[in-house]
Amino acid sequence: MPFQSELVDLTGPFVSGPIPGPRSAELLARQATRESNARTYPRHLPIAIAEAAGSFVRDVDGNVFIDFLAGAGVLSLGHNHPELVGAATEQLSVLTHGLDFPTPAKDAFIEAQLSMLPATMRDRMKIHFCGPTGTNAVDAAIKLCKTATGRGDIISFQGGFHGSGAAGMALTGLVSQKEPVSNGLPGIHFFPYSYCSRCPLGLTRETCSTNCATYLEHSLKDDLSGIPLPAAVIMELVQGEGGAIPATIEFAQRVREVTRELGIPLIVDEVQTGCGRSGTWFSFEQYGIEPDVIVASKALSGMGLPIALIIYDEELDVWAPGAHTGTFRGNQLAFATGVEAVKIIKRDDVLGNVVRRSEQCMDLLAPLQQHPWVREIRGKGLLLGIELMHPSSGLPAGDLAAEVQAEALRRGLILELGGRGGCVVRLLPPLNVTEEIMDAACRILVDCIDQLESKAV
Ligand code: PMP
Repeated sequence: MPFQSELVDLTGPFVSGPIPGPRSAELLARQATRESNARTYPRHLPIAIAEAAGSFVRDVDGNVFIDFLAGAGVLSLGHNHPELVGAATEQLSVLTHGLDFPTPAKDAFIEAQLSMLPATMRDRMKIHFCGPTGTNAVDAAIKLCKTATGRGDIISFQGGFHGSGAAGMALTGLVSQKEPVSNGLPGIHFFPYSYCSRCPLGLTRETCSTNCATYLEHSLKDDLSGIPLPAAVIMELVQGEGGAIPATIEFAQRVREVTRELGIPLIVDEVQTGCGRSGTWFSFEQYGIEPDVIVASKALSGMGLPIALIIYDEELDVWAPGAHTGTFRGNQLAFATGVEAVKIIKRDDVLGNVVRRSEQCMDLLAPLQQHPWVREIRGKGLLLGIELMHPSSGLPAGDLAAEVQAEALRRGLILELGGRGGCVVRLLPPLNVTEEIMDAACRILVDCIDQLESKAV
């Protein structure tokens, strides 16, 4: 049996002293002098991590936190799940790197992945392994669709996030990241998403007829719209970095209908929503649609080993040999743990746990709705968010969200922010989080948000 930290038996956090503690502060200071200015997470979550297990992280000062960031959604079964550690350890002395040769570990991984697809898709989908990041798989999806259609333009949605590589960034809504980098990928058109809490078309739920979808459909069919028939439409069904915003069913279905009618491949980016996070293996299953291309990465290995792929309709498979290569496409450790992760998820009804913990969380957070600074509590499965605003102006309150993030950390809960100006407090717990830990985390979160009264103007 692999080593198991005593952290897994905890039900709550333990923080003593200021954050960062002295040893974290020292490492953070060294990091600041030696690493890039582009570093992100430790700016808002100023800790240096010593070890982790399950839903807990221990910093180098001995403080223990509940980790509701979970490697940005990567650690679906928590940190160092003992059975995944076992699978990785066993594979380590067999084979670690295999380019794109077939191997028993890879074959089992493909089998496991296909077994998780809806039955109607299993026989007609193919897999391509990409360089081991979500952004590389997005790149591959775009190249595939451009090659298959012979077209060049791509449609993406405002608020979406698709990565920090050249193509991923170009498809991403995040203006601040792309603004300083000139000569980005051309031919990308952004359309409004069904972000109903702040409708980009200025409508309310009462006046809306999913006009965002109508606008897209009109633009695709209008011969004076200025947009040539695109090679693909790419969308997240729950915008993760955009602030845990689920597409409405009608929006997603109408996007699927019009893309199918016009012969435009629909790419669903499941990098964050995939592998069970939404409560089904892929989030598109909850929308009654079938995409042409699925992009998956983050939680495929279940424990943060890098791997990314696209799963696509074989009709699109017009690629020439070597059309999308990459040295690191054969991570055998990730294959081995990915197979084990699927086994555990099926055996332990982890998807059922996602649904139950999601409901528990929404129930525990519901009283927050009474605060005028809480605009919306939303999400799907265990990809949840609380959007904060300033009551007097209604403007996104990134400052309040940052306050909540900092105070939650001081009380032992690691949370991420997202959305416009970082105004959404996001929850991305491990999918096997227990009822007790969810309870402890929500109690901290509710307390932190309750206390915003004096700052919410
Ligand atoms: N697509 C989505 C939906 C994502 O959430 C992310 C990462 N947050 C990416 C793509 C990019 O993945 P990576 O950081 O592994 O490149």
